Amino acid sequence: MGLEKVSYGWLARATLTVMACGVAAVCWQHPPAVGGVVAAAVITAAIWWFLAGLSLSNAIWSGLVSQDMTWHARLRPDGPVHRGGPIDPDTEFMVGQMRQVEDRVQDFIRASDLEHVSLAVTGGRIGLWHEAASTRSGRGGHVDLGYFWLFPDRSNVLPYILEHELAHLRRNDARARLGTTTLRAALIVLCAGLLPLAQALLVLAVLTAVGIGYQWWTELACDREAARHCGRRVAVAAWKQDLADTRQIPLVRRLWAALLALRSHPPMLLRVWWARLAPSGSA
Ligand SMILES: [Zn+2]
Repeated sequence: MGLEKVSYGWLARATLTVMACGVAAVCWQHPPAVGGVVAAAVITAAIWWFLAGLSLSNAIWSGLVSQDMTWHARLRPDGPVHRGGPIDPDTEFMVGQMRQVEDRVQDFIRASDLEHVSLAVTGGRIGLWHEAASTRSGRGGHVDLGYFWLFPDRSNVLPYILEHELAHLRRNDARARLGTTTLRAALIVLCAGLLPLAQALLVLAVLTAVGIGYQWWTELACDREAARHCGRRVAVAAWKQDLADTRQIPLVRRLWAALLALRSHPPMLLRVWWARLAPSGSA
């Protein structure tokens, strides 16, 4: 396996697990030495910061590769969609949408502190809201857009989806998350070493709840920025369309996906309600 395939995020999680279990095991056999536990927490936090930071820069590098393989491949004059005569209307529309997205992203870069933002197309014609994602490291950003957002029946909500991801980049939510997860790693080791099991589990449950709450707030803040840019009507339409799409999924699978999504995103009905509170005009 090449170095480029190493998942630094998983390496960081493995390090945290080993350190927390190791500290808990030592402190279970001997009275906890506060200095030693604090030192282990600081070391864990430093390793987490380093590996999670590498994971972010790796994502930006991978994003440039994805851009070449997906976005640029579709737009190249000699690309497969252009070869051999006229392209079909859907593809022509999609290419037009991609050009508009590029123009908006260039405007965004000029108005922000970012130096470059790569774009990639993911998924297929059928997809859900979560097929849009972004990440940032330093002054580089990357945005993944689901293929289906670029088709005619989604063109009305594409600007909202894009603005939501650009808001994440503008706010540098990736850096804030790096900071909060590093702090969480240190607290987990401190809990493992200094607290009885029941209290440690209680504190970890509270930390998890606070982390989820913070993620929800981040998503709602980006929804608000996107709605401010596109207007309330587009924001509400985006979430209503998403709700309608979600209802097409078999019930059990839908409930399972909704449950998993709650770890990082607010429930969709809350997002619809939040969108209704957005300013009515568009920028
Ligand atoms: Zn988001």
